[in-house]
Amino acid sequence: MTSSEVINPATEEVLRTVDLLDVGGVDDAVARAKSAQRTWARLAPAERAAALRSFAAVVDAHIDELAALEVANSGHPIGSAEWEAGHVRDVLQFYSASPERLSGKQIPVAGGLDVTFNEPLGVVGVITPWNFPMTIAAWGFAPALAAGNAVVLKPAEWTPLTSIRLGELAVEAGLPADLFQVLPGRGSVVGERFVTHPDVRKIVFTGSTEVGTRVMAGAAAQVKRVTLELGGKSANIVFDDCDLEKAAATAPYGVFDNAGQDCCARSRILVQRNVYDRFMELLEPAVKGVKVGDPAARDTEMGPLVSKKHWQSVASYVSDDAPVAFRGTAPEGRGYWFAPTVLTPQRTDRTVTEEIFGPVVTVLPFDDEADAVALANDTPYGLSGSIWTENLSRAVRVSRALESGNLSVNSHSSVRYNTPFGGFKQSGLGRELGPDAPLSFTETKNVFFAVQEAP
Ligand code: NAD
Repeated sequence: MTSSEVINPATEEVLRTVDLLDVGGVDDAVARAKSAQRTWARLAPAERAAALRSFAAVVDAHIDELAALEVANSGHPIGSAEWEAGHVRDVLQFYSASPERLSGKQIPVAGGLDVTFNEPLGVVGVITPWNFPMTIAAWGFAPALAAGNAVVLKPAEWTPLTSIRLGELAVEAGLPADLFQVLPGRGSVVGERFVTHPDVRKIVFTGSTEVGTRVMAGAAAQVKRVTLELGGKSANIVFDDCDLEKAAATAPYGVFDNAGQDCCARSRILVQRNVYDRFMELLEPAVKGVKVGDPAARDTEMGPLVSKKHWQSVASYVSDDAPVAFRGTAPEGRGYWFAPTVLTPQRTDRTVTEEIFGPVVTVLPFDDEADAVALANDTPYGLSGSIWTENLSRAVRVSRALESGNLSVNSHSSVRYNTPFGGFKQSGLGRELGPDAPLSFTETKNVFFAVQEAP
């Protein structure tokens, strides 16, 4: 077994050393999960519901601890980290209603009775990225457990701490041993073993499009089910008839939340040409007003980037001759700090076409509605986006024309546990959250019972 150091990105101090599993460790865990799943699926639905409610209650009792861990491990501002821990509780609470509601169908047929059952898949492998470690984990494990499956969860190498703690809290809450196991390790070892292991029946992968493509190709060998939540390069479209002050004041928070390390970041601001100059005048103070600093401080709005390696990747997009319109501020000294940065490049520049995943936004002018839609859709991604307009017909037309899974009009909201979330095109496959998520962790079984005619 190898180990790796977990670093606090705001101080560069080593927080902890975490043991990493090897392939043999994964195989042992999957064997135990397989056995735990059989028992779990046989429990009465109300008992499974009660166990998940108990898990939610234990998470609720540990919100402060989980939030503090995320502040230290990921550099998330304390207010955001508290919201994330509360969101895990809410997701568990929401799906705790599912075991008693996965009711199947009774279908009218000739000669008998026909019913469908929503059978659990078995063991589900959840692979998560480092940007929102505990929330994204919960989107996979909560509906999967609710549908009667066992879950093995591989957190990202840089940010495993809250996931490891959630695994412990599940046991404390009384979930059966081995039903939900958190397995820290390398993507190339633990993640790949999830893909090749015949008893892992589905992979829920959230991460880069590059690795997601590999996961999907590997899963094909066993016709393994996959849900993929991948990258994004979302547009924030600002029309000339909108509340321009509000659009400018909120635009930084639509992209710089979590230091831009957000798959839904509106990292391309598209502004109608006749209001472009005014918008930029309004955007500048809004960007300079973003409070970047100690993530443990209550008034901090943006923390550091997650790691030195990621800092170098983000910095590579802002060379000395980059078309910087203006920048906000960030602390100096230790920590992976990066000031919010606004660029005004050409449409073909790589800052416009590639996912930067940091606090760097590009602003581009457009001519009319058709140009805005074409520009917004000119990307292999299709995850999120915002539309700013006071014209209802335009809002409807543009939201139907955009190739994107999650849009908001006159706001930047993306994620609610009770509405579906996922991407078009290379942003992903399948949907998480919302009322139907547990169904994607089941197989539909159809059974016909022949009924004899009355004598
Ligand atoms: P990544 O693809 O590098 O890693 C994601 C996870 O996959 C990690 O746990 C990693 O260890 C694992 N992994 C790596 N190689 C693997 C392999 N060969 N087989 C199986 N697993 C492997 O992504 P990241 O850098 O951690 O996260 C950032 C990316 O995630 C961004 O592109 C972002 O847009 C995306 N993301 C998408 C969503 C969404 O819901 N669509 C949400 C958050 C992040």
